[in-house]
Amino acid sequence: MEKIKMTTPLVEMDGDEMTRILWKMIKDELLYPFIDLKTEYYDLGLEHRNETDDQVTVDSANATKKYGVAVKCATITPNAARMTEYHLKEMWKSPNGTIRAMLDGTVFRAPIIVKGIEPCVKNWKKPITIARHAYGDVYKASEMKIPGPGKCELVYTAEDGTETRELIHNFTGAGVVQGQHNLCNSIESFARSCFNYALDTKQDLWFATKDTISKKYDHTFKDIFQEIYDSEYAQKFKDAGITYFYTLIDDAVARVMKSEGGYIWACKNYDGDVMSDMVSSAFGSLAMMTSVLVTPDGKYEYEAAHGTVQRHYYKHLKGEETSTNSVATIFAWTGALRKRGELDGSHELEEFADKLEKACVKTIEDGKMTKDLALITTISNPVVLNSEDFIKAIRSTLEGMLLL
Ligand code: NAD
Repeated sequence: MEKIKMTTPLVEMDGDEMTRILWKMIKDELLYPFIDLKTEYYDLGLEHRNETDDQVTVDSANATKKYGVAVKCATITPNAARMTEYHLKEMWKSPNGTIRAMLDGTVFRAPIIVKGIEPCVKNWKKPITIARHAYGDVYKASEMKIPGPGKCELVYTAEDGTETRELIHNFTGAGVVQGQHNLCNSIESFARSCFNYALDTKQDLWFATKDTISKKYDHTFKDIFQEIYDSEYAQKFKDAGITYFYTLIDDAVARVMKSEGGYIWACKNYDGDVMSDMVSSAFGSLAMMTSVLVTPDGKYEYEAAHGTVQRHYYKHLKGEETSTNSVATIFAWTGALRKRGELDGSHELEEFADKLEKACVKTIEDGKMTKDLALITTISNPVVLNSEDFIKAIRSTLEGMLLL
């Protein structure tokens, strides 16, 4: 069989620990045998980030701007323990944070649905994709402890020196206070990324805030979404047969629980943080969540939602067998290959991505899976495979499908 050709390279961002081990296995078993894989390789493994003073992360984000599609392996975000473990020159920032800030993107997280791994919420039949605004609010807030009686105000000083004041509270005793902000530019980018991704994936878009209580702050989010929708997207949504739906956050939560899924739920920063963990755990497993960073001008960076699976890596280093789930990392590759195929007009590449995803799903539905899934599956007597054998089982399913 002839290998599938690629015209434009994917930006490949390698990573750390157990996911780095899986990365190589995925390429060797599931990609190289079938595709003339073209990538521009960036090693975002912590050692190389340290050697390059983290320049490699910046370079990989710039390459994503240039080529439009990237695929990323999970990476370590250094903390104090990692400083000693890897003899780091500095506590380098999270690569995901750096890339997200440089691309000004929104992260969309969606579960991979498989029969036999059933969501806790019985009526969820289709994936619920969470879009999280990644700037501002409580994550960039200033806070103060108020020790005792006194007046607390918000003060805005314009460049010409004029002041606008708003009373927060006349404290009669001790308390706490917090100042949050957001930027219209950032909210606009968030809105455009969400509308574009909804069109891209042909799914309805829901957005919710607490605008009845937060009449200026949250209301601005609601207004910006509505203005951009009305002026730039209403007709496109109509043509695609999808809808944009705004409601209050409490109403959204109630509707999500009763829904069957199949839409994108756009969330403010904090709501997205909390809701994405709730949705991923309710759908079954963090190892089955995909994640894609989408920019308002249509650049894509695909990855798994989980981390480097450190615990398994230490077992692997000791020569012990691991059973690490590679599905979300494989879906990062298929997402990127499909998008590359779509942009380059390579139907073959798109078809291959579809088949590889189906092969992952079929392998699990046939009862062959990693330990994390075996613990939660409704399939009786699942066969628990180690990391390598699971990928080999997917290859054998894929080869069967490609022969048809
Ligand atoms: P983790 O996602 O690696 O693991 C969390 C838990 O989920 C573990 O108990 C693990 O056993 C289980 N798990 C996750 N993915 C799995 C898989 N594919 N197969 C089987 N089980 C799986 O998160 P962590 O342990 O908190 O972090 C480890 C490292 O990953 C940290 O250094 C952190 O900085 C990094 N991290 C990176 C990203 C990213 O690059 N996107 C995201 C989160 C964490």
